[in-house]
Amino acid sequence: MSTRVTSVRNSPSFKATPSHILKMLYWQCQYNDCTNPSVPDNGDCGACGKHLCKQHLTDEFHPCRSLEEEKFWEAVNATSKNELQATLEAVRKLNMIDLASQHRPGHTCIATIPNDIDDFLRGGINLHIPITFDDGVKWLARIPQQNFKAPPYHLGQMITESAIVTMDVLKGACALIPSAYVPLVLPKSPCEGKGVNEPNYHFLDYLAGSPCPCPIFDGVENQDMISNTLRDLAKFYVNLSSVSFPSFGSLIKTPTGETVAGPLISTTFCNPHREPYFPGPFRSAKARWLGCIDHVLNEIEEGKAFQMDPVRNYLAHLEIRETVMECERFGDKQEECYIKHADDKGDQILVDAEGNITGIIDWDWAYTTSKAEAFASPLALIDPDSVFTSSNDLTAYEERFMQEYINLGRPDLADCIKGGRLYLRLDFTVGKEFDEVMMEGLRDAMGRDKLGLDVEGWEQWARDRYRDHKGLRRVIRAVRNSAQN
Ligand SMILES: [Zn+2]
Ligand SMILES: [Zn+2]
Repeated sequence: MSTRVTSVRNSPSFKATPSHILKMLYWQCQYNDCTNPSVPDNGDCGACGKHLCKQHLTDEFHPCRSLEEEKFWEAVNATSKNELQATLEAVRKLNMIDLASQHRPGHTCIATIPNDIDDFLRGGINLHIPITFDDGVKWLARIPQQNFKAPPYHLGQMITESAIVTMDVLKGACALIPSAYVPLVLPKSPCEGKGVNEPNYHFLDYLAGSPCPCPIFDGVENQDMISNTLRDLAKFYVNLSSVSFPSFGSLIKTPTGETVAGPLISTTFCNPHREPYFPGPFRSAKARWLGCIDHVLNEIEEGKAFQMDPVRNYLAHLEIRETVMECERFGDKQEECYIKHADDKGDQILVDAEGNITGIIDWDWAYTTSKAEAFASPLALIDPDSVFTSSNDLTAYEERFMQEYINLGRPDLADCIKGGRLYLRLDFTVGKEFDEVMMEGLRDAMGRDKLGLDVEGWEQWARDRYRDHKGLRRVIRAVRNSAQN
């Protein structure tokens, strides 16, 4: 059975203008008739469910900002229920049964659509509708939640397409990956930025099993179960190591049907003004990280990122840039790249009652990266509390996981666990709001001395260190000018 992957940008009916591109990649501001693009993350409000631009997310135009905490969370709950209700109404209008049956000629199926939003089957941020065929084959229709955090329609479609390409590639090497089937008639694309669009869904094989807790040792599982899970997880990664690509990016299918690593699909590092709108693909780890860091520095200089605290965030990214430039582990040479799950905190792993793995799911946002990063510890093995300290000590579960690799004759993958915290630290600092504890953890993971300074002390240290940097001087000047106006 084949999957059909469509690309919005390759569609003959799609003629992208600059304003289309903005609407593809950003929600349009939902304040009255404003047509500005909304600010990713900071402009998405859970309380009113709106996406707001730089101007309209301020206190003056956005009353949610002054709500007391209790009222704020009441509003978040009410909005979430409304969004789920709207998704349920939209799902009822979809022609799911016919579209699923088209993939299996000669078979009929039923879709179990819940009567109430509380009965939705959930998997992470996705809603699942069970589809059962007359011969007992079971699928799920996977519907990304249409809430305030959902990407705009076309970006969502790009993410889904890349996830399906990734799963197709992985299926050849690893068991445990479900097959995906794209509806042969795609949901309508209104190509407009406002309101809930028709859900952009696809079908997946139903895999038995329950998701692991996040992290995997945080649940009620006994040690035998965890041992089984760690053993199967190590085998899975060994199989994953047989699939490689020559560059860093997100997997896409070219018009000729070839699977390649294309630009890195990301909201943080998106540039709607220049094709291909996302950074990359990159040939080396150093080029990848510098590309992302330089994007952030440019965005701050242009007043498009970290508007509340541009100087401190610019300084932090200058320091991260310097650590990447100097770190011996980042070379300029082209590296072989491997697939990395982008949300590997534990619930992507499905297990049976004994802890044996039955599936690895949720491949949205997966990307290709260096061996060192792709086989660094999944978050599933890391104590989340330790991430918010500057410690990079390995957990007991990481040590056990390294032993599993050694048992499988792969000490090279065990070494990736040993040196892997560096990537977690980069992930938590590049493009993220300045946090001194995270920066201290990054310095430690990069093999630099911790500074041991408080925030003010660090800022002074960094201002002195980078005082001649032209971009920094521009940012400081802009802050000074806006304070005077
Ligand atoms: Zn709001
Ligand atoms: Zn606006």
